Parts: sequence; C-alpha cells; structure tokens
Amino acid sequence: MALTLFARRPAPVGAPAPEPWPEAGETWQPEGVTVVERYYNLGHAVVLVFLSSGCHVVSCLGCHYQATKLKAHYSTMLTPDEAADLANTHAANCRALPRDIPARPDEEAARELLRTLVRAMRKRDERVNFYLYLLDTKRLALQRTNEWIVGEMERLADDEPEVLNISVNTWGTGLHLQKLPSARTSSRPNGAEQPRSWEPASPRAAAIPSSPSPTSASGEWKRLTWWSS
Ligand SMILES: [Zn+2]
Repeated sequence: MALTLFARRPAPVGAPAPEPWPEAGETWQPEGVTVVERYYNLGHAVVLVFLSSGCHVVSCLGCHYQATKLKAHYSTMLTPDEAADLANTHAANCRALPRDIPARPDEEAARELLRTLVRAMRKRDERVNFYLYLLDTKRLALQRTNEWIVGEMERLADDEPEVLNISVNTWGTGLHLQKLPSARTSSRPNGAEQPRSWEPASPRAAAIPSSPSPTSASGEWKRLTWWSS
C-alpha cells in the first residue's frame, strides 16, 4: 500500500544527480608505478612524484612536464627531497588544466610501445647498456610492472637478437640488457665489430632473483633495480 501511494507521487523535478568528478590523478595508481607524493598545480591538475625503476620521477598530469634529474646535475638521479622540491615548484607555477588520465594500453599496444622505445634508442653505432630507468618518463604510458618489462625484453631478444642481447651479469644478481647497434650503421669491413655472439639468457630463475638483492658493488649495476619495487 505504501508503495502504491509512493508511486503516485509526481516525479521530483530537482536537479539531476551530479556527474561523477572525473579522475584527474588524485587517486590514480598506475600499474608498475608507486606514487609517493601528489601536488596540485594552479589549474588543479595533479603533479606526481613516483617511483618505478627505483629513481624518482616528477610528472605533471596537466602539461606533460616530466623530470628525472636536476638540470644542474645531468648525471645524478633525484633525491626524494629534490623530487619534492621540483614537483612543488612546478605545481606553484603551472596553470595547465587536468588532462585525461592515460588509459592502460592492452598487451599488444604496450608491447609495441616498449619495442618502439627500445628500437629508437640512440647511439646506433655502438652498444648501449639498457637500464630500466631509461623508461622512467614512459611509465605512465606503459603502465606495466618492471617484471613485465624485463619479460618483454627477453622476448624481444628472442625475436630480434640483432636488436637486443641479454646476458646475466657477472655477479649473477641482475639481468644485463644490451641494445645492439643497428645493422644499418654498423657496416664496418667484414663486420668485424659487428657483435656476432648471441649469448642466450640464463634460465629465468637464475636471472631474476626472488627477493631484492642490492648486492652489487658497482654503481653502474645498481641502476638495474627492477626488482626493488
Ligand atoms: Zn604542469
């Protein structure tokens, strides 16, 4: 009875339900990324400080600004304080409005993006050691874990050994990824300098430690901290 009476009432003509506020990055947790700080810029866009490879990255979700190091120190990674300062300074001066949060690409798109990035790495005339931090500014587009990236790099090395070589470092605690020179620009006489040996990757169980192993004594190898986050 009560239901019938209720149903006869005229429909309310109040304001429509408010549209859900679009996500602008306030709670966004992209895969493969650990957000450690968020700031608002002057347009209410979010400026993130995040970790993915183990290095701090500052990324504005309004204007595409990204930073992984101080301009005055080209070779050093950001400390947490430096990252916070950069993000805070940028947020205090940037007026960009929030842009759409990047959608997570499907497997095929993410794989192709990764392969495109690796193929396009510069220094085509020499071997380039590959470190995960080289992808730091692409992680909000990739939205994949370090483990996924390493697995895909292994697949790329299998599929295109002329592009990528993988070996386990001498300490046995990390994966050494090496981008090879492109065949186009490595036409030395007799191909003497052309890398020929394809060193197959060691069994994955040996290459990927099950727990963080920051045991490397070399600063160079410390950069390969894909297992730490
Ligand atoms: Zn900005």
